[in-house]
Amino acid sequence: MRSVVPDYLTDVLADVESDTSGEPAGYIPELAAADPERLAAVFATVDGTVHGAGDPDVAFTIQSISKPFVYAMALSDRGFDRVLAKVGVEPSEEAFNEISLENDTGRPRNPMINAGAITAHSLTGPENVTPVERVDRVVQGLSAFAGRQLTVDETVCASEMENAHRNLAIAYMLRSHGILTEDPRAVVDGYIRQCSVLVTTRDLAMMAATLANRGVNPPSDEQVVDGAVVRQVLSVMATCGMYDAAGDWATQVGIPAKSGVAGGLIGALPGQLGIATFSPRLDRHGNSVRGVSLFERFSADMGLHVMEVPPAARAVVRSNRVRGDGADAIRVLRLQGSLSEFLWCAGINRHGGGDGRALRRRSSDPRRPRVMRWRL
Ligand code: GLU
Repeated sequence: MRSVVPDYLTDVLADVESDTSGEPAGYIPELAAADPERLAAVFATVDGTVHGAGDPDVAFTIQSISKPFVYAMALSDRGFDRVLAKVGVEPSEEAFNEISLENDTGRPRNPMINAGAITAHSLTGPENVTPVERVDRVVQGLSAFAGRQLTVDETVCASEMENAHRNLAIAYMLRSHGILTEDPRAVVDGYIRQCSVLVTTRDLAMMAATLANRGVNPPSDEQVVDGAVVRQVLSVMATCGMYDAAGDWATQVGIPAKSGVAGGLIGALPGQLGIATFSPRLDRHGNSVRGVSLFERFSADMGLHVMEVPPAARAVVRSNRVRGDGADAIRVLRLQGSLSEFLWCAGINRHGGGDGRALRRRSSDPRRPRVMRWRL
């Protein structure tokens, strides 16, 4: 039997489609020319199941969504102490391109704003790596998170480089504080190549699922980064991922997330799933308008807020019986307790396992056990 998730995603996309508020990013000419009507949503569970709706295979540039992944690479390549000495973990409450440096040390406040992301880029790869080798390390690292080879969009890259005055200003400030130790122009060039990596919504969901899965890419089973790095990255996404809208996001959606100015948005729910959306019109914070609405819906419909406390559970399986014989046999499980109802209905176990084919939806009375039927 088909999963109910694609139908759910299609319904939710239809609900947000009429919202044409916001504008595509204007400061990178190539992004301003993007088709603003594109819309996609993809769920990738930690067991490798992927469901998408809309335009999940349309490619766009990753932009700031690269930041948590490149921060993860810097932590892996240089170690926590060396990275934390140069990039903080405090929300800046300022716009993504603000020159937010600590007064005394000149350290960028966090790796999700441009100042911190440019620094994190400079800390990837081994010591003495060349700028070209570093870009290669970053593209290969992003590809490992996605589980397929990614490439750079040279047109978007050139378009952004021509208009990179602000990022260059940030990099020169970082150089003056000794946070960057090499040519600021070469570092910004590498950072912009990082932002210009082409991805689809499907790729982004898989990258988020790799974070949700303790750093293991679900389809390839490759350990891309270790669990301690993932914990650090998800923590920073939770507090700083949505720029100066991070507090609203934390209370209303409650999923560690990161947005990009091309219109992508990811969320990673530890132990459960990666979510990605794509819609190019942005709000005043630089976050996708329809993407934010989609995540608000997902969180509310499925109880995905990480702070949501499930009711205390007793034994989950109340009864487990087989009814009928042969091809008509059906297993009936009566389930109770702290189950994520929607995911169970979709045949997805909240803890990542399970390939159940639910034949009947949940009981509408929350005090009664859910009755799920699987074909044998
Ligand atoms: N390449 C963009 C910049 O540095 C990324 C910004 C974003 O996606 O928020 O300006």
